[in-house]
Amino acid sequence: MENEITIIGGGLAGCEAALYLASAGWKVKLYEMRPGTNTPAHETPYLAELVCSNSLKSTRLDTASGLLKAEINALGANLLKIAETCSVPAGHALAVDRELFAQKVEAAIAEQANISVIRKEITEIPTGKAILATGPLTSDGMMSTLSSALGLEHLYFFDAIAPIIDVASIDYTKIYKKDRYDKGDADYLNCAFDKEEYYRFVDALIAGDKHEAHEFENEFFAGIKFSYYENCMPIEELARRGKDTLRHGVMRPMGLENPEGRKPFGVLQLRAENADCTAYNLVGCQTMLRYGAQKDIFRLIPGLEQAEFLRYGSIHRNAYLNSPALLNPDFSFVNLPQLYLAGQLAGVEGYVECIASGLLVAKCVAEGLDILPEETISGQLWRHLCYPKDTKFQPMNANFGILPRLINEPRDKKEKKVMYSTRAMAKLGVDVQIPVNTEEKQRILNKE
Ligand SMILES: Cc1cc2nc3c(=O)[nH]c(=O)nc-3n(C[C@H](O)[C@H](O)[C@H](O)COP(=O)(O)OP(=O)(O)OC[C@H]3O[C@@H](n4cnc5c(N)ncnc54)[C@H](O)[C@@H]3O)c2cc1C
Repeated sequence: MENEITIIGGGLAGCEAALYLASAGWKVKLYEMRPGTNTPAHETPYLAELVCSNSLKSTRLDTASGLLKAEINALGANLLKIAETCSVPAGHALAVDRELFAQKVEAAIAEQANISVIRKEITEIPTGKAILATGPLTSDGMMSTLSSALGLEHLYFFDAIAPIIDVASIDYTKIYKKDRYDKGDADYLNCAFDKEEYYRFVDALIAGDKHEAHEFENEFFAGIKFSYYENCMPIEELARRGKDTLRHGVMRPMGLENPEGRKPFGVLQLRAENADCTAYNLVGCQTMLRYGAQKDIFRLIPGLEQAEFLRYGSIHRNAYLNSPALLNPDFSFVNLPQLYLAGQLAGVEGYVECIASGLLVAKCVAEGLDILPEETISGQLWRHLCYPKDTKFQPMNANFGILPRLINEPRDKKEKKVMYSTRAMAKLGVDVQIPVNTEEKQRILNKE
């Protein structure tokens, strides 16, 4: 009998799993509820839509996200290859034209004879082998079913997204192109603040009219404690933590001197949203401010006085399950061993992490893959999801902090990161070309 599997959710994890399993000979039924039933964040009917930023983060091997990309490329990820074919300028980051990316994923799925796509919301747990990849905006019907089937204490937090503006409305006499420390092709547009402008902006953010937590509760989620995920903290919330918090964080001016060589007091960067660079994202400006307040406050940014907003920032529910308490080491549910969990709902955080999760689950289903080495980011994300822990479970993204320490940690941070990446890739049997001299590399490999 042929291997058959149902995948619920045609997002990043679901599409990656579908493509992998289909090419391994599995017959895949991929269910996606959009466009019939939408989520609060998706805007198109496409599969694999990126709901917020168009950046899949750094490709450099001295970053954790770059290492995760290298790992899953080595393991056979499909979606990253597609992303590379629709990249937009973003320095060392892999940013994509989001619409083109989604269209190309749809095309790759359509070309696969082993995949049939069914546009329908699933609210019951299927019989037979299945992967649940319904994401952070899983429909209420499915959440409700999971809640009763698993007797689970569901966890969730809120997530904010940043506004996008029309390039034609930017005042180019006030902004300049530059990547931090000139590492890249000057893809970012920089809005420089002097001291007075910066504090006026911060004061406005703090005073701005914003949505309140209770406005996001619905019947199903009412009464559950409202909390943010630290990595997606709204900009006004960061401003409230201290008047200089932003200029030591997302608005730090280091390495972003203006064309005259002067360091501004603070800098807000704009990143292209699409290949034609007609739309720009306000980097780090995820917000809970009401639309009217956003218009007034973000127009205080030097160069954006006349900004036309193509999309306002907003806030959304972001659901995840308590995976370590629910899953077997192969991502299947202890209580429902035919059902596997992938993507953000499983408790990984970020686009590339969700792609990685879809791939790992598919490899467990198709090949019975053994857990990956603990020196790899993918191996540690896997452990984070499937191994019980003492502390409260929180979603995890790629970061070097989850890797075991090196025996002799170098003082130099960059060297340390390169050593982590070299070690991880060596554990996967890949000799990577990282700018580290051979002697140093040999030392790393011998010691670990
Ligand atoms: C508002 C928001 C902004 C985010 N911004 C970023 C960001 O900027 N950068 C980043 O790295 N990560 C971001 N994330 C986190 C995460 O990386 C993305 O949400 C990612 O797309 C999750 O991938 P996934 O495959 O788990 O789910 P998704 O990509 O969301 O895919 C799940 C799919 O399942 C469908 N679905 C849901 N319920 C059902 C059902 N019952 N039946 C059938 N289909 C169903 C949905 O329509 C959706 O297409 C954001 C998350 C949210 C909520």
